[in-house]
Formats: sequence, structure tokens, C-alpha cells
Amino acid sequence: MQYPLVRIKKGKEQSIQRNHPWVFSGAIHSISEELHEGDIVAVADINEQIIGIGHFAEGSIAVRIQSFKNESLDQSFFEKKLSIALEKRKAIGLWENPSTNIMRLIHAEGDGLSGLIIDWYNGVAVIQCHSIGMYNQLIIITKALSSVLGKSVFAIYNKSKDTVPKPYAAEINNGYVYGEAKVPHIANENGNKFYINWETGQKTGFFIDQRINRDLLGNLAKGKKILNTFCYSGGFSIYALNQGAKEVHSLDSSNKAMELVDANVTLNGTYNNHTSIEANALEYLKSNETDNDYDIIILDPPAFAKSVKNRHKAVQGYKRLNILGLNKIKPGGILFTFSCSQVVDQQLFYNTIRAAAIESGRKVSVLHQLHQPADHPINICHPESEYLKGLMLFVE
Ligand code: SAH
Repeated sequence: MQYPLVRIKKGKEQSIQRNHPWVFSGAIHSISEELHEGDIVAVADINEQIIGIGHFAEGSIAVRIQSFKNESLDQSFFEKKLSIALEKRKAIGLWENPSTNIMRLIHAEGDGLSGLIIDWYNGVAVIQCHSIGMYNQLIIITKALSSVLGKSVFAIYNKSKDTVPKPYAAEINNGYVYGEAKVPHIANENGNKFYINWETGQKTGFFIDQRINRDLLGNLAKGKKILNTFCYSGGFSIYALNQGAKEVHSLDSSNKAMELVDANVTLNGTYNNHTSIEANALEYLKSNETDNDYDIIILDPPAFAKSVKNRHKAVQGYKRLNILGLNKIKPGGILFTFSCSQVVDQQLFYNTIRAAAIESGRKVSVLHQLHQPADHPINICHPESEYLKGLMLFVE
């Protein structure tokens, strides 16, 4: 297959040769023909030696490389990539594991497919394309997925309307591209049950990236009074209840989220020690009426910064939130605190929490440094695929 050629300026090919999949527009020397958003292109060095094949986009990331070889991005290419991704999940014991049938199958660059997310919910795959190039290949991806997964998959849902670049959203509809499934669908995470609704829920229906951290919290929950803020569908709360927490308060500003938490609590047992609070987390933590005798608090806000431009403001936001959280914890309690802002790295987050600890006047020690789980792998040459970071703190 002959794709249009994008030649890279001398010296700028080095990061691509080290397997970094993004070609920035400033690195381009020349383009062989007129291109449109999403076209498949061959990326070449100044001597026209092809060093990668990828998707073209009008933006600062001009090409997202999918292969570092000169090959067609056809169905068999996607089958190969999906098979490797599946092998990774098998290697970490996630595949055909009845106690956990929720996982991320494709984590974009971490699985060598820049712009593609595929999440798995007990027989149903939900696809999110973050570029038009990837969206243009949706049919091929669907065929490859059903061929690699065989009988294990009974429905594939495309949920790309809100994730493709904004100008293209109007042309895209979400919907089933293979089979069909009823929502809400029940799936398990470490033996805990959850209703998943990819049609109306946030993201693909569930925050899969907190699995290992929920497990850690669950193991400490027995007999404890816990506040789970920014709880969405109540992931942390359900683990805590199922493992014998004394009392769990779940809080989110979204009414839909609180309905989901209530449904998930009922799905897991008959609990009369759970309270749902629909509120703004900052207001709630500031209010004097709030209990301040929590043994454990979880702070898992949405990304405060989506770009470097907002980083400073985000850091201030994390600091304010964490001071409030620290003040509500009983001496000897534990704070789980997270950031999913890609532009706030581990070190910056750590420094921010240190500043919050100093300002709160509480003595704090770090018990665990927390991360995204292994089904959200990080391409070692693309540090940007690391986004979730957190700390488990002991608060004196
Ligand atoms: N901890 C969750 C995921 C959190 S996602 C889990 O384990 O699944 C972030 C959540 O924060 C969303 O549900 C969103 O509705 C909520 N949110 C956003 N701003 C908020 C605010 N100011 N106060 C409370 N919740 C908020």
C-alpha cells in the first residue's frame, strides 16, 4: 500500500526512531500531496526512508504513528495489535477471570494504537476513538476485534462522539457496531458487582483505572468510617461495604452518579450503613456541619488540568482540596488522594500534597505511591501515557 509521504526535518526523526508515536507539526519538512484530517500517511526521514505509518491530523500532533514499519494499516495489522494486547491482559491474569471481567483492552499509546481506547465489560467491548484517523478505521477495528476475541465478545459499542475532535462530533453517532447488549449490564471487579451503562454513563461507563487502589482500600476498610468523594458509581464505596466498613459516605456532584451508587449498593447486599450525598466536594469539606471524624477519606477528582496552560491553576486546586480533606481526618486516619491530570506529573503532585500537608498543620507520612493498573500500560518511550497518580497517606 502506497500512502502519501510526510517528510520529517533532519534530526527530528530521532524521537520516532525511539518509538515515540507523535509527530509534531513543527517537525514536518514537506508533504507529498494535499492531506485531509484522518488520512493514513507514511512518515519518512529527509532521504525518504519510511520510518512509520500513521494517521494525519490538523493540529499540533500532526501524525499519530501506529506502526514503526512500512506496512498497511489493514485488518490483519489490527488483529496483530489486538492479539498482543490480549496477551498482556492474559499475562496479568485478567482474561477469563470470573471475579474481574472489567478491564481496559487497548490503552492507546500504551498498546501501540495512538488515539484508540477499548474497554471490556463482561462480553461487551466499548470503543472510543480520539482521532478521526482511528474513527475512519472503526469497521476494520470491529472486524479485527471480533476475529481475535471470537465467541467471548457478544457486542461492540462505538462511543466516539464525545472523544473525536469537536468539529467532527456532529457527523458521528454512538451505537452498536456488532451484536447488541442491554444496559445496564452487570460486571465484576475483584468479586464486587457493578452496573455498567456505556450508553449514558461517564467515559465508557466505569472508571476502570482505580481497580488496584480500590483493592488496597477494601483491605483496610473493616470497621472504618469512610468518606468517598468524587465517587462516580461508587467503586471505592462498594469495596469498603463488601469488606466490612462500619459506615460509608459517598459523595458526588452528579445526581446520575448518586443514583448509580445507590443501585450498586443494592446490587451488592443489604446495607444500612451507606449514605449518598449529592454535593460539591469542596463545599461539603469546607462546611462545619461535615463530620470530621473519618478514618479514611478518598479524594479522586476529575482532571483539574487538561493542558499545560492550566497546570498552575490545577495545582492550586489540588492543594486547596487536599488541605480540606486532611482537616476532616481523625488522628491516625488515612487519606487516598489522586490526580488524573496528565500534565501534573508524579513529582509535581507529590510536591503539591507536601505543600497541602504543611499548610494543614497535620503530620503526614506516605504509605504507598499509587498508580494506574497494569491493563493501562505505559509505552516506555511515551511517558505521556502515564496519567493516574496518587498517594496513600497516614495522617497523625
Ligand atoms: N472515584 C470514581 C471516579 C471519579 S470521576 C470511581 O472510582 O469510579 C470524577 C467524578 O467527580 C465524576 O463522577 C464527577 O461527577 C465528579 N465531580 C466533578 N466535580 C465535582 C465536585 N466539584 N464535587 C463533587 N463531585 C464532582
